[in-house]
Amino acid sequence: MKPDRCPSAWCEIHRDRISSNLKLALGLVPKGRKFCAVLKADAYGHGIHQVVPLIQAQGVSCVGITSNAEAYAVRDAGFDGVLIRLRAATPLEIDDAVGAGVEEQVGSLQVAEKLHSLKAAGHTVRAHLALNASGMSRDGLEISTPQGRTICFSILKMLVEDIVGICTHFPCNEPEDLRQTAASFQDQVSWVFENSVLDRSQILVHAGSSLTLVSDEAVETDMYRCGAILYGILKPELGFQTTMEVKARVASLGDYPKGATVGYDRDCRLEGDRRLACLSIGYANGFRRGSHTDAAVVIGNRLAPVLGKVSMNTVVVDATELDDVQVGDEATVFGGITGTRASLTTTEQQFRTIMADLYSDWGLRNQRIFR
Ligand SMILES: *Cc1c(COP(=O)(O)O)cnc(C)c1O
Repeated sequence: MKPDRCPSAWCEIHRDRISSNLKLALGLVPKGRKFCAVLKADAYGHGIHQVVPLIQAQGVSCVGITSNAEAYAVRDAGFDGVLIRLRAATPLEIDDAVGAGVEEQVGSLQVAEKLHSLKAAGHTVRAHLALNASGMSRDGLEISTPQGRTICFSILKMLVEDIVGICTHFPCNEPEDLRQTAASFQDQVSWVFENSVLDRSQILVHAGSSLTLVSDEAVETDMYRCGAILYGILKPELGFQTTMEVKARVASLGDYPKGATVGYDRDCRLEGDRRLACLSIGYANGFRRGSHTDAAVVIGNRLAPVLGKVSMNTVVVDATELDDVQVGDEATVFGGITGTRASLTTTEQQFRTIMADLYSDWGLRNQRIFR
């Protein structure tokens, strides 16, 4: 659809805050270690084209993505540094990503064979050996078993010249768990070096995400791969700021009597005469349908509780207590400022999920306005 001059709901993206979060994050990276900016899910809903210039301005030379569309968008935005895919790719994806110069994860024979055959056809794809290390059991190779070690030997045999990295992803960043998983990863990395001709000084050993970077537990890694931290989802106490606001408008106001029911399935019944506002946002805009019981939005600095079930394109709120609210007024679903409603914590509770989930959903469903 074309850009809408009067969008029903929209995301305001604060580019200056992304830059300031990045600066803070880079300041946390221990000396000599690298930083990879994770821009999957269209930069967590913020728009790859807008975020790439910001990370380039601060010299970030590595980007992580998952889909080919993201890889090509990152290149199209002018990024010519290292581009790593953060999951296993299908053979078709690998073929299609050659033009974007994507470095692929290899944690299975199938991917190794695919990369090997591409090389025979004249296309060398750089690879990162993905280890599970008792971690996510997502797409990393578990080499604690004899079977896994056999596969590892085959991968190393096929791709030894093309492996530029060894990586894992931590499932949990609680200190004790992180310490154990990081140690088990390092043991497995050592095993790989002992059992191959790979040269430690030429290989990037990387693990750890935003939560690892802000953890008090020091973890051995050559590079941190961080997404969440750029968008202010974590550690507001360290100065990180949320980077997206979600807003809609009051589309109509009406007075309804005591006993009237509100919304589908008559899920809510008015206990008194109320003035209700209908907002131009619904579950199609990412205002989750499962969120109705304790949800609220902010209108003119006041809280307006959501009543009844969320509809596809509208939400009804109680506006009785709001003075001089008018049709066309802004309603803030997420404003992000700590200590207020529509902040990080209240919003995660209200929508029963994490901000990364909400950001990527909101950003992809609504028009984005860049500040
Ligand atoms: C998403 C992802 C990251 C970044 O995680 P954040 O918590 O957003 O920093 C890092 N590594 C991998 C493999 C990922 O999938």
